Amino acid sequence: MNQIAPKKLFIKTYGCQMNVYDSDRMADALAPHGYAPTQDMAEADLVLLNTCHIREKASEKVFSELGRLKELQNEKRASGGDLMIGVAGCVAQAEGEEIARRAPMVDMVFGPQAYHRLPDMLAKAEGNRHMHPALRRAVVDTDFPEEDKFANLPAAKKDVTIGRGLTAFLTVQEGCDKFCSFCVVPYTRGAEVSRPVAQVVEEARRLADAGVKEITLLGQNVNAYHGEDASGRAVGLGELAYLLAEIPGLERLRYTTSHPRDMDDALIAAHRDLDFLMPYLHLPVQSGSDRILKAMNRKHTAAEYMRLIERIKDARPDMAFSGDFIVGFPGETDADFEDTLKIIRDVGYSSAYSFKYSTRPGTPGANLTEQIDEAVKVERLARLQELVNKQTTDFHASCVGRTLPVLIERVGRMPGQVGGRSPYLQAVHLEGSTDLIGAIHEVDIIGTSTNSLVGRLRQAVAA
Ligand code: SAM
Ligand code: SF4
Repeated sequence: MNQIAPKKLFIKTYGCQMNVYDSDRMADALAPHGYAPTQDMAEADLVLLNTCHIREKASEKVFSELGRLKELQNEKRASGGDLMIGVAGCVAQAEGEEIARRAPMVDMVFGPQAYHRLPDMLAKAEGNRHMHPALRRAVVDTDFPEEDKFANLPAAKKDVTIGRGLTAFLTVQEGCDKFCSFCVVPYTRGAEVSRPVAQVVEEARRLADAGVKEITLLGQNVNAYHGEDASGRAVGLGELAYLLAEIPGLERLRYTTSHPRDMDDALIAAHRDLDFLMPYLHLPVQSGSDRILKAMNRKHTAAEYMRLIERIKDARPDMAFSGDFIVGFPGETDADFEDTLKIIRDVGYSSAYSFKYSTRPGTPGANLTEQIDEAVKVERLARLQELVNKQTTDFHASCVGRTLPVLIERVGRMPGQVGGRSPYLQAVHLEGSTDLIGAIHEVDIIGTSTNSLVGRLRQAVAA
């Protein structure tokens, strides 16, 4: 019997981990329709760009990628084949019809809330292919649905590249109601929605059954999670952590990204009680200046953030913190920037992400008049990154001499080496056999190298 060769799907993912998770779910949704993932764009029948709109450069990158894809589409057509192109994600949500207008070779444009409708869109777009190119219009879907997107997506499958095999992402919350004045997320991802507890536990259980040892719960505001349980009661992220800790085979839990205002007592208590919850917290503050925090609509002060850090450290003394910082927000003075450097020194981050402020159309920040010169932003970013890099180096050095549990996930870069992650999300390399992969091992940290730790497998002490 003749088998029909599966069509090939290539997804290019931009931006955050939530997009990585979404890309995997899109691949899951298209698998029953005959699409198998490929890592080679040139052999694809369908290319999806899963885009990010958080900063200006991100959307520019999408349009230049579309230029390259047009060439590939032309080449394929010249040799009797074809290529369908879809633009998904937050640029698609924000720019919708504009993409269809600027890039007429695109077949589908759809936002993050429409992924469960992807097979229907694809069927429509395939139908459009038979039309004359001049009459053809992209299928555009940027509606926020009434129905539950997650309930309408197929179950997450471990064999479709979620995470790196032993680790997986699991989106529990989407959208944001905070409206920080610089940020597009509330407009592109919509209002804050949490997945029901049973759905999350079920997905985590399935991942654990497939061999996943570590899950990272995802959400734009993950600690604002308030999923309903079977009785309709809202369950917070802290309580959810205790439920997930019960799942056989699951050994580690992380979550990102958290907002300082949603770090409640129950979640802090979970950090105190559960070794399962990793002692690494991404807790962005954005600025150390109260004036700028107010203008950013962050709804907390620098002192409140510092008090929160202290409370978390009281509960879990070895907690490592990471953060996000924006330099050059409109009106930021040298003194405001010095306050940001001060809060970084006061907290002592193990790592941090930092960005130059990028004006996003439609956000309140875009209407502020005191925009900061690019040269000033560049200089401030360099100073901030120098400080953070030094803190990261110091943090790595402080681990030398300790014994850390390391989830060994892969072969190392050098022959005879394996690699994994410490509880603090540091990469760790050590000499060892591939038999170590798949489990947590006690590792003596004996040194550091650029951005990682060097370890030695702790030898069992004879009784
Ligand atoms: N919800 C998270 C929070 O409140 O901290 C952050 C999510 S956002 C997707 C990731 C990071 O992008 C933010 O923490 C911020 O530092 C950065 N970001 C967002 N909008 C930005 C902008 N307009 N310019 C520069 N950086 C921006
Ligand atoms: Fe954006 Fe602020 Fe919401 Fe984070 S909390 S997603 S920065 S609006």
